[in-house]
Amino acid sequence: MSFVPGGAAIMKLIQGAEVYAPEPLGRMDVLVAGGVIACLQPGIPCAGLPDLEVVDARGKLLVPGFIDGHVHILGGGGEGGYASRTPEILLSDLTTAGVTTVVGCLGTDGTTRALAGLLAKARGLEAEGVTVFIYTGSYQVPVRTVTGSVVDDLILIDKVIGVGEIALSDHRSSQPTFEEVARIAAEARVGGMLSGKAGVVNVHMGAGERMLGLIERVLSETEIPAKHFIPTHINRNQALLRAGIGYANQDAGRGRHLDLTSSLITDDPALSCAAALATLLRAGVSIDSISFSSDGQGSLPLFDAGGEYSGLGVGKVSTLFLEVQRAVRAHGVPFQEAVKVITSTPAAYLGLPAKGRIRVGADADLVLLDRDLEIDAVLAMGRFMVKDHELKCLGTFEQDLMDGLDAKRPFGFAASGRRV
Ligand code: ZN
Repeated sequence: MSFVPGGAAIMKLIQGAEVYAPEPLGRMDVLVAGGVIACLQPGIPCAGLPDLEVVDARGKLLVPGFIDGHVHILGGGGEGGYASRTPEILLSDLTTAGVTTVVGCLGTDGTTRALAGLLAKARGLEAEGVTVFIYTGSYQVPVRTVTGSVVDDLILIDKVIGVGEIALSDHRSSQPTFEEVARIAAEARVGGMLSGKAGVVNVHMGAGERMLGLIERVLSETEIPAKHFIPTHINRNQALLRAGIGYANQDAGRGRHLDLTSSLITDDPALSCAAALATLLRAGVSIDSISFSSDGQGSLPLFDAGGEYSGLGVGKVSTLFLEVQRAVRAHGVPFQEAVKVITSTPAAYLGLPAKGRIRVGADADLVLLDRDLEIDAVLAMGRFMVKDHELKCLGTFEQDLMDGLDAKRPFGFAASGRRV
């Protein structure tokens, strides 16, 4: 009998779920074998198949595993000094959020959080069971890379699929010139072409008044196609969201893309990912041009009621699907449309044909949802990470971390780690 790590059967038959591929396919059976979707049809006969785990999914929805295109998996530089450096992500932070593919990035701090560590973290998470890529670089320009060149990083390092997050229109940006931004995009394009990768530039948009201006100039003054730019944090403020609508609707939207951030803390409910998605759709932006990412583990400045800085929070990957739920429940976005922003659309802009869709031959990254859209089960590469609302796989040291918290309880700490 054959086993994958965790002792689960290699083959799984998920029976009778309503499949959203993300387009609705109706009730189907899905056969998972060797980490891929081997068969997809109504009623798969399974008599005689050895080592098969059958899952009754009637009454549930099956969607592709979620893709989060912007996560500080290594932790971020705290913007309130050394003690505020944010922690590394844990495997279960991703899997309990339904995320089976993640792109790790560096942000403000490209010094104490460096690419060698990011690459090692990516490889570690992948060994634990999810799919991980990284962007080379950080906020900084000139871009710090592993090999000394964006092109070489893309060609020589399997995990590198783009460059970012390059900060523009932000007080923390390196204030790159037009020529510098154009050169980064050119290197991403050529490196991507030569390595068969997307070669995207993930751009951190700040609150500055120049907004998307530098990207617009590169698109109008060079031959670089729009598909290489993924401007993110577009829901940071109303002005940037409006500028995003103008940007995305130019040139018949060809290749133009907007990424919304689900961890942004704002008092304006109209700027939540869910509300901003509804606004963009009403303004005529194509659903296929919009994605969500969480900015998980990034540092989030917190402000008190008087608007004064009061400390830092940490971005949460769990907000990614929460905002999709909210778009459906509170903003009337149809489910099969809303789920694209964390499945097929990021798979397309990241150039990952085996991800973000339920189809034969695709990786068996799947999320099973209850009728009320709560996560019931998560499979990553054919392996149950979550099943029946229970965590089935922990990262290497997660049990030790939990035991450590238990040990501290006599000293007045609750399971959350907070003093009670
Ligand atoms: Zn950012």
